[in-house]
Amino acid sequence: MLTGLDGFASTGVPDEWVALTVPGQFQTRYYTVRSWRDGELVLDIVVHDEGLVTEWTQTDCVGDVVGISAPKGSFELPPAASWVLLVGDLTALPAIARISESTALPVTAFVETSDGPIDGYLDGDVTWLEPPTPEESGLAELVSGLTWPAGDGYFWMAGESAQMRAIRRHLRHDLGMASSAYDVMGYWSGTRGRQARTVDPRPIYEAGRAAGKSDDEIWADYDAVRGGGLGG
Ligand SMILES: Cc1cc2nc3c(=O)[nH]c(=O)nc-3n(C[C@H](O)[C@H](O)[C@H](O)COP(=O)(O)OP(=O)(O)OC[C@H]3O[C@@H](n4cnc5c(N)ncnc54)[C@H](O)[C@@H]3O)c2cc1C
Repeated sequence: MLTGLDGFASTGVPDEWVALTVPGQFQTRYYTVRSWRDGELVLDIVVHDEGLVTEWTQTDCVGDVVGISAPKGSFELPPAASWVLLVGDLTALPAIARISESTALPVTAFVETSDGPIDGYLDGDVTWLEPPTPEESGLAELVSGLTWPAGDGYFWMAGESAQMRAIRRHLRHDLGMASSAYDVMGYWSGTRGRQARTVDPRPIYEAGRAAGKSDDEIWADYDAVRGGGLGG
């Protein structure tokens, strides 16, 4: 939980994220605003085997001063949507939970985690999935075999970048879904490893917005330039 954020203004978009800079670092990592209430900003951070923020969370970090960017969000429910389908790994869970709380539409969620169900984190219709192996994800297979609800709706998904690219292709080419009906984001890269960020997403995001591109097109531009996932 972070406090002392004078001037922080939530976008209200339920998958909004901030770039977090931890002490002694100049690189950032992206985290979802799980909640922003009474001057307290909650980020739920998944601890990996190694990593810049991962290492910081294992220090005596209470009271540290960190940097936070202005928030940005991507979730954009079409007016005609009558259902919401959410899929992701553990890093997507904070956004999945906040999106679920933000809508009165029926929500179906699938969360892949090797840690088993996280009781009480998420209300509603959630299916907890075990990955096929600790190093692999079954999310692409899950999505390709989904039975889609009838009528118009909105599909939101986040996880490992290479998988997300495959899923975007499936939605666009195999299912012919309009890009306004889904939002699929690469949250981290399984192949990139830990390295300096070589491409700043902000100019790409701003140029894409100025050109009237959808978030999906902007993420695709970013993936193409970088060859990996957004996230530090
Ligand atoms: C818009 C957005 C919102 C996000 N929201 C959240 C959030 O709310 N909570 C959250 O925990 N994460 C979130 N992420 C993902 C997070 O930014 C990345 O997982 C990030 O790489 C973690 O930083 P790190 O410093 O711990 O590890 P890094 O220094 O970035 O990476 C260290 C190593 O860990 C590996 N690694 C990174 N992420 C994972 C993973 N998920 N599973 C397995 N290995 C991994 C890397 O490949 C690398 O080898 C979000 C990402 C984006 C783009």
